Amino acid sequence: MTFRQKTDIVSLPVFPGERYSGKRAFFYAPRPGAEDAKSMEKEWGRIMSKKLISLADCCVAFDGELVLDHINLYFNDSEFLTLLGPSGCGKTTTLRIIGGFLTPTSGEVLFDGARINDIPPNLRQVNTVFQRYALFPHLNVFENVAFGLRIPKASGTGRKKVRVPEEEIRSRVLEMLEVVSLKGFERRRITELSGGQQQRVAIARALVNRPKVLLLDEPLGALDLRLRKDMQSELKRIQQQLGITFIYVTHDQEEALAMSDTIVVMDQGRIQQIGTPEDIYNEPKNAFVADFIGESNILDGVMHEDFVVEFFNRKFKCLDKGFAPMEPVDVVIRPEDVDIVPKEKGQLRGIVTSVTFKGVHYDTIVDFKGFKWLIQTTDYHPEGETIGIILNPDDIHIMHKSQYSGMFGDYSSYSEEYDELEDVSLLEEDGEDGDEE
Ligand code: ATP
Repeated sequence: MTFRQKTDIVSLPVFPGERYSGKRAFFYAPRPGAEDAKSMEKEWGRIMSKKLISLADCCVAFDGELVLDHINLYFNDSEFLTLLGPSGCGKTTTLRIIGGFLTPTSGEVLFDGARINDIPPNLRQVNTVFQRYALFPHLNVFENVAFGLRIPKASGTGRKKVRVPEEEIRSRVLEMLEVVSLKGFERRRITELSGGQQQRVAIARALVNRPKVLLLDEPLGALDLRLRKDMQSELKRIQQQLGITFIYVTHDQEEALAMSDTIVVMDQGRIQQIGTPEDIYNEPKNAFVADFIGESNILDGVMHEDFVVEFFNRKFKCLDKGFAPMEPVDVVIRPEDVDIVPKEKGQLRGIVTSVTFKGVHYDTIVDFKGFKWLIQTTDYHPEGETIGIILNPDDIHIMHKSQYSGMFGDYSSYSEEYDELEDVSLLEEDGEDGDEE
């Protein structure tokens, strides 16, 4: 059974986690009703960790158009945080603010509690890895990684510039090449490396200066799928080994789920949800998140009372509470959560309209009186077969209606036919059948 833990950002001063030190303080607290101890522990863990960077009420406008809309977000020390969202949602703009390449139109950027809005990129303890590696083709691997270390830096006290001693450069470059699994490649030319190896050089080059934060802007975008997967686990390993903060930008939800401690889902310059991969997947906050992270059937429903929702003109037990009586809601059913049973045993009955073999499972589209659901099952049910389905309470997730309601999670158009069906009372847990016909 998948755990279901409600989390949310609430604007009340609930102990203990102030999210940032800006003017409008928000607090992160488990929603009332959160019972899952493991999930609670993870949430408090994040809240109580050391905040390294905070964006406080940051807005960015280009030519009067708001592309970041009051972003409030913090990044913890040693955290792998992913900014996830569709193209143009503002991920790179957020990263550029942190890197110092862009000053927010309003709001504050804080590093270790100090305001850094006006600190240039080279004086921030932050480095960036871009999708295009921007390596120097005329230098070998060693010299590419050593490049930043060879630039004289202003000393802490005076105007005098200091150089890193050659011996230290050598040991730090070799150490980083080992971290990125490129030991022995020092003398190789960049043109003699594969895409994945070039990406590793870019990562080593960004890490050799020992930044506290590494920004990664779709760094695996140019790699093929296999290499991407390999590099995902490599990146996670490197982050854990070095214990520094990685802020990763991607539009690939699988990548985000696989690597992150925390995912921030963005759309239209706004944060839609912040949480662990499990939270985001199991408890999407609105139809946008539910659709963007994995596949979802999203239906119109009405919350009758705590733990009872109605959709398709019948009532189902669920695990959700705290909604207004008879509140219209969005109901999310994940394709892999639906149990297919013989038609006479189903709570609902539908006809298979298409089947696609996906390797591990079949993507099976089932027509429930005109409303088509996606069901993922390892059993083959041929086109034309009438099947029954059973939904357990923890297969049903309820969300408040939002600006995204009705936009996603529909595998066909809704049929009004279900409204004409006879109402049936709530099924008892003893498994009483309730075919609608
Ligand atoms: P992608 O995944 O495609 O890189 P993104 O989520 O990183 O997208 P951003 O690059 O942050 O999106 O862009 C957010 C919005 O801001 C987009 O509409 C983009 O066109 C706009 N934008 C970004 N930089 C500028 C700029 N310098 N001038 C004008 N508009 C800009």
